[in-house]
Amino acid sequence: MDEPAPIEAEVQDVRKIYRIGDETVNALAGVSLQFRRGEFWAILGSSGSGKSTLLNLLGCLDRPTSGRYLLAGRDVSGMEDDELSHIRLRHLGFIFQNFNLIPQSTVEENIQLPMYYLGIHDHESLPRAQELARLVGLGQRLKHTPIQLSGGQQQRVAIARALANNPNVLLADEPTGNLDSATGEEIMRMLGDLHRQGKTIIMVTHEPDIAAHASCRLYMKDGRVERIERGPMS
Ligand code: ADP
Ligand code: MG
Repeated sequence: MDEPAPIEAEVQDVRKIYRIGDETVNALAGVSLQFRRGEFWAILGSSGSGKSTLLNLLGCLDRPTSGRYLLAGRDVSGMEDDELSHIRLRHLGFIFQNFNLIPQSTVEENIQLPMYYLGIHDHESLPRAQELARLVGLGQRLKHTPIQLSGGQQQRVAIARALANNPNVLLADEPTGNLDSATGEEIMRMLGDLHRQGKTIIMVTHEPDIAAHASCRLYMKDGRVERIERGPMS
């Protein structure tokens, strides 16, 4: 039998409790999951079920109230901020619903940014950014700024930026949420290609059509895992 792929990210009984005045919200009420290399996950569930909270923890953008998080085999739960941002830059790429590009920066500068944060010099990062722009079909738009691009093109810049430091894991929160359905499908084909090239993808969506591209579907409910489905969507 084939050995299972290595575990890329693992949460162990993570909880996230928000306190606002006397109210407590169990945004995550004890979640344990393993994400293996090369899997493509869709996280589904109604609004408020904890999808974004989980993705933010996986992205080291937030910390759990309790529980452990292991990324690339290392326990990140207790890491200092600068160590955490380094591991985030090396291992994770982010794709957001609103693209989150820097408006004043060009396509190539936006793609360079994660490399800049890792201390990679221009003479290395600029050609790589240009190559990534070509990879996502924007080789003719290097000097454009985001406002000069369509939504789909902006999301392609964001995908190229997410790939800049060659991370194993891509995290996407509603990556097609601001796009028309044809453009959304185009972005999903691109993510599907990256999955076939071996990337681990974890994507939040509430659209079944979009989730159908994934190989594993995680349904969240009230901060808990409701169920997991593997294989093509039936
Ligand atoms: P989803 O992405 O599935 O819509 P979220 O993870 O954003 O859900 O939120 C889960 C729950 O946690 C919701 O009840 C939400 O109101 C609450 N929540 C999320 N972020 C915060 C916050 N920063 N402060 C207080 N409550 C929050
Ligand atoms: Mg959300």
